[in-house]
Formats: sequence, structure tokens, C-alpha cells
Amino acid sequence: MALYVYKFGGTSVGTVERIKAVAEKVKTAQDLGDRIVVVVSAMSGETNRLIGLAKEIQVQPTEREMDVLISTGEQVTVALLSMALHEIGCDACSYTGGQVKILTDSSHTKARIRKIDDTRIHANLNQGKVVVVAGFQGVDEHDNITTLGRGGSDTTAVALAAALKADECLIFTDVDGVYTTDPRVEPKARRLDRITFEEMLEMASLGSKVLQIRSVEFAGKYNVALRVLSSFTEGCGTLITYEESSMESALISGIAFNRDEAKLTITGVPDRPGVASTILGPIADANIEVDMIVQNIADDATTDFTFTVHRNDYQRALAILEQTCAELGARKVTGDNTIVKVSIVGVGMRSHAGIASTMFKTLASEGINIRMISTSEIKISVVVDEKYLELAVRALHAAFKLDQAVAA
Ligand code: ADP
Ligand code: ASP
Ligand code: MG
Repeated sequence: MALYVYKFGGTSVGTVERIKAVAEKVKTAQDLGDRIVVVVSAMSGETNRLIGLAKEIQVQPTEREMDVLISTGEQVTVALLSMALHEIGCDACSYTGGQVKILTDSSHTKARIRKIDDTRIHANLNQGKVVVVAGFQGVDEHDNITTLGRGGSDTTAVALAAALKADECLIFTDVDGVYTTDPRVEPKARRLDRITFEEMLEMASLGSKVLQIRSVEFAGKYNVALRVLSSFTEGCGTLITYEESSMESALISGIAFNRDEAKLTITGVPDRPGVASTILGPIADANIEVDMIVQNIADDATTDFTFTVHRNDYQRALAILEQTCAELGARKVTGDNTIVKVSIVGVGMRSHAGIASTMFKTLASEGINIRMISTSEIKISVVVDEKYLELAVRALHAAFKLDQAVAA
């Protein structure tokens, strides 16, 4: 008997009707003889609504209380889905993360899963029940409720699939698979039948929120067969897999983008050892994550230093940098929180030259100015003004012919 973990995201459980449709889908699978564990997100918009309520009371609530609050969205959906299953004659039992002992570290709002005790789930499955588990949450060793970061239900599902040694983890969502880029930005985006873990990891970390990055990491590490597919239409979706020689030999597999970026520059910094750490040390101490970094030596023995941070951290980073500027005797600090990052990703880049030049030429021909560049083995990222995001994505999509399938 096969064991599957099904995960349904916020839109898929966004209304009572949709919850009933999910119940039907689960029952059909169970009737075929499969054992099913279902992970659900909060109803769409609910997590944001809860965060909004908190902000009306306190600008910066403690992260512990935030977790107690935002974990409730998923508790609602597990109960409703179990009821919908009972209603159609399917035995089911709902659990919060803590009840099935999803043990995490204590990093509230971004906790990592350490261990899952699968005894209770196995016992229920053996009794012929569907087990419905709340995504996005766990408990730490002191029984405090924790959450796994936005989009964390994906990670709950993959972690459960790994712990239960499930045959496959199916992520049901509002698109029918992983596309060459977000189909909301480029309608010509094409669904990929397969994508490698490595590429999916890059896509997720560069802004494609179709899967939470940790879920991809987890699946790669524990060898979980992972598939993204539609809640609403039939189809086999996209399989996330190890690289195989028979896979599509595209140079570029996809385009990712991130709108949450901001950039800061400090100019006229005395060029001497230790400057980078003097600039970035206080930023790190303030728990602000730095993404891209560019340093350039000017003719006059000073250096210009630019880096990017999450837009939410922009004002804090600016204030810190102003202070560092005064301490270092640097010239000035400038910043811009209207920039975005656009990245092309593909394992094919390893063995092909000229991809960067095609990317830069394409952007130039659209009159898009590149503000920063960073590369790694399988990706090239550029920072551009946010007003060019859609244009850049569509131009690159066309230039790399991503709308056309590549012969295997
Ligand atoms: P869920 O609520 O089911 O977890 P998400 O909103 O987290 O769904 O993820 C699905 C969304 O991810 C899609 O609606 C789509 O707009 C977006 N997305 C971004 N990049 C991609 C991509 N490359 N392929 C498919 N979807 C993508
Ligand atoms: N409900 C959480 C969120 O909105 C977790 C999830 O949907 O995966 O981020
Ligand atoms: Mg999601």
C-alpha cells in the first residue's frame, strides 16, 4: 500500500467549497487503497490578517506571541478538513504540529524542524484513518509553539514525507506545476515536467515562492520524491528530481525575481584592510541579512561599497550605515528601496559560455540599466529598477526561448 503526503496551500483551502473539494480528492485516493497524510495551510489571506491584527496592537510584538497567533490559521483548516472528510464518510483525525511532535528549534517565526515522532500518525494510518496535520508549525523542547517561516507548510509536508518514508510528497497549489517563470508575470511561461533539486533550490532562494526553500533543501537531503501540481485540474505537474542525462538540455531552466530588495551604498571609504567587516559587522549584529555585495576601488585610494538587504530592513540598515560612515570618515551614504533582483537559473550554464552576454545584451536592447550583477555556477542575477521588472522578465524569457520546449 502506497503512502502519500498531500499538501494543500492557502488558495486550495480558501473557502468551505474548496475544503470540500479537497476532501473529495483525498477520499478518492484513499478509496484506491493509498494511505494519505494531508498537510494544510491556513485559508488564503488568513496569516496576513492575523499579522495585521497584531500590528494594530504592537509595532513589534514578541516573536513568541506572534507564533501563538499565526499558528491558529492552520488549526482552523485541519479541523474543517477533518469535518469535511467525516461528512463524506471518510475516517480522519486532525492534529496541530505540537500534537504530532514536530519538534523544532526555538527560533520563533523561522524555526527549523529537528525531529518528528511518527508513532501517532502511523497508529492512525494503521486504523485506516486519514491523518490531517497543520502545516507551518511545531513546538520547541519547552513546548512553546513555533512557526517555520512564510510558506512553511511546504516544509512540514516534506519533513513528514521524509519521516514517514512516504512514496511521494505532492504539493497541490494554484498553479499546475513549476513554470519557467511566475506565470502571473509572463503568461507565456511554460510548465516544466521536471526540474533538478539544484535548480529549484536556486529558483526558490532567488524569489520563486512556489516552494519554500527549506522544503526543497529537505527533499534533496532526505531523498523525498517531490511533485508540484494543481489542486484544481488533473495533470502530473512538475517532479523535482536529481539530474539525469535524459532531462531537457536547456541552457536556462527558469527566471526568478525578488521584489523585496533594497540597496545601500557608502562611497569614499578609506581603502584599507578591515573596511568590509567594519561596514557589514554592525549590519550583521542588527540581524540584517545581506545579499549581494559589490566593492569598487576608485582612483583616489578610496573605495565604494554597495550591498543589498530585504526591503523591510532598509531603514534600519540606512541608519546603521550613516553611523559607520561618520566613524570611518567616508564621503556619503546613498540608498534605493525601489530596486528588484532578476535572475536566470540553469545547470546548462556550467557547460556553455555566452549566457551572461546574452542576458546583458537583452536588457540593454530594452533600455534597462543594470545596477548590480552577481553570478554563481548556475545563476546570474542583476539588480534593476523595479519599474523594469516585468519588461526584464519577459525580454529574458523570449531571448532564452523559454516558451519553447527543448528536445531531450
Ligand atoms: P500556496 O498557497 O499553494 O502555497 P503559493 O502562493 O505559495 O501557493 O505558490 C504558488 C504561486 O507561486 C503561484 O500562484 C505563482 O504565482 C507563484 N510562482 C512564482 N514563481 C513560480 C514558478 N516559477 N512556477 C510556478 N509558480 C510560481
Ligand atoms: N500560512 C502560512 C503562510 O501564509 C504558511 C503557508 O501557507 O505555507 O505563510
Ligand atoms: Mg506556498
